[in-house]
Amino acid sequence: VAGTNDSRTVHTRVAIVGGGPVGLSAALVLHRFGIDSVVLDRDTGTTRHPKARGCNPRTMELFRQWGIEAAVRSRGLPESAEPAIVVESVAGPELGRVVPEPPDRAATPAWTCHVTQDVVEEELFAAASACPGIDLRFGHQVGAIEQDAHRAVVRAESAGGPVTVEADFVVAADGASSETRRHLGIGMVGPATLGTWANDFWQGDISGLLRGRQAVSFVVVPQDEHAPTSMLFPSGGGRYLSWTQLGPDEAADPALWTADRVRAAIRRQLGTGDADITLLGQAVWRMSSQLAETFRAGRVFLAGDAAHRFPPTGGLGMNTGIQDAHNLAWKLAFVLLGHAPDALLDTYEVERRAVAQDNADWSVGNASRITELVAGVRSRDLDRIAFWLRDMENHIHQSGRALGFRYAAGAVVDDGTTAQPLNSRVYEPSDRPGGRFPHLWLDLSRTQSTLDWFDTALTVVGGPDSSGWEGAVEKVALETKVPLAYRRLPHLSADHGIAMGPRGAVLVRPDGHVAWRTSWVPPDQVATLSAAVTATLGGAVR
Ligand SMILES: Cc1cc2nc3c(=O)[nH]c(=O)nc-3n(C[C@H](O)[C@H](O)[C@H](O)COP(=O)(O)OP(=O)(O)OC[C@H]3O[C@@H](n4cnc5c(N)ncnc54)[C@H](O)[C@@H]3O)c2cc1C
Repeated sequence: VAGTNDSRTVHTRVAIVGGGPVGLSAALVLHRFGIDSVVLDRDTGTTRHPKARGCNPRTMELFRQWGIEAAVRSRGLPESAEPAIVVESVAGPELGRVVPEPPDRAATPAWTCHVTQDVVEEELFAAASACPGIDLRFGHQVGAIEQDAHRAVVRAESAGGPVTVEADFVVAADGASSETRRHLGIGMVGPATLGTWANDFWQGDISGLLRGRQAVSFVVVPQDEHAPTSMLFPSGGGRYLSWTQLGPDEAADPALWTADRVRAAIRRQLGTGDADITLLGQAVWRMSSQLAETFRAGRVFLAGDAAHRFPPTGGLGMNTGIQDAHNLAWKLAFVLLGHAPDALLDTYEVERRAVAQDNADWSVGNASRITELVAGVRSRDLDRIAFWLRDMENHIHQSGRALGFRYAAGAVVDDGTTAQPLNSRVYEPSDRPGGRFPHLWLDLSRTQSTLDWFDTALTVVGGPDSSGWEGAVEKVALETKVPLAYRRLPHLSADHGIAMGPRGAVLVRPDGHVAWRTSWVPPDQVATLSAAVTATLGGAVR
């Protein structure tokens, strides 16, 4: 899928550097607010590499709102696919399986989808292409960004010559080796090398070896303890991705990882000497766990891999990045539309840095869990293998983390209650400020969710006897000129973690996170709500 359009100087509200999953998501959310953007990507099309292979429930909820959930899901693996099958080789004996996470249909209208990143990018690109306010310019390599008090200027090179984009703000979503980040002099903090891996993408017919097994991954632990551990990811269309942990020599000099060695390693992984393999791509990468020193430099905001790099043992890189874009875009839109002061934009880093650090640390923990599983498998002690296979569920079963992440500070008003510790495995719904407002079906046919209430406005969600809030919402909307809607819950359900009470209310942000809560009716509803809106948006509303 290639971008179009070519003219020398372009004016837009937001320039987005990088048309990967994060940049395209940012453009789609801005479009919902009527904010135009220009997306610049150095490649001529979206990725052909499978890269990430999982969209967690929160990402799928966003895709549901953007109208691409069904298309993405139809191209993914079935829910019953095994997350990991542990084998000596793909053809050889099977040593165990990690069971899939049971879908929690009460928690979300859009469960996890095991789908590769090339598919996700194609669907995001198609959706963005259909939006008149999004100017997709692929084949544009960004070189420099300048900024002053009034605007940012992005300079790019294209086949048609240099192009300049003038914008109010820039989203730098140009990936782990972000040139924008380097250009701004922003360093990375955290361990740069936790291991060195080869990432080999190839094509071949191994359907006979798979024997009908549908797996997200095969963890290959050869009996020979000197042979490397590896992983195989079926990627659709007869394409496979093989990861091999490199020894010290190859890690020091990746040129030693030649095409012949790659083919030999893949054949060892498959357990067959005669597989016909066509190499499609090779890369050597260092597993790291790092965050950018800052996510903001004036008018430029880092998002996705440009802001954080995690070990892939968590499946959170793309998911966290897409959710960064969702957090940042409504704030940019509110500031550009005059609904909020610039201070709202500082809450992006406050909120997303904490989430990114937690996801990075958790992914590092999962990497050591895999090391233990491999040691267990090599010991051939069945109790030890069974223990580590069960423990792997703490990595794979992660809907508590995917849906339960919350913001302790930022565009959130503390209501004095104490947060429960986050349980990565089990989602505990709550209407406490900072968390995503819980999902409840609103109709018997299960098409309308409470999540559908949150899009481009702040929303007051009241309990079943909260009609007094409706008038307050109208008055505050008139007074502040901030888009504000009122919704009444049909019923309260402790199962859904709604603690606001029948006459209480919460204020929910456009990204679906609760900003403020009261469980009683204050003496002056208008003044209280007005203060909550002002505090959420970062001070005096313009
Ligand atoms: C093998 C592998 C497995 C992974 N598994 C998972 C997983 O299971 N789950 C998960 O969530 N994540 C996973 N990830 C991570 C995931 O791929 C990344 O987190 C994700 O791609 C980040 O998206 P992004 O948009 O921030 O950056 P990218 O996808 O890197 O996109 C950046 C874009 O910027 C463009 N660009 C770069 N520099 C410039 C420039 N100067 N000018 C113009 N354009 C530029 C690039 O062409 C690219 O299109 C995996 C990654 C790999 C490699």
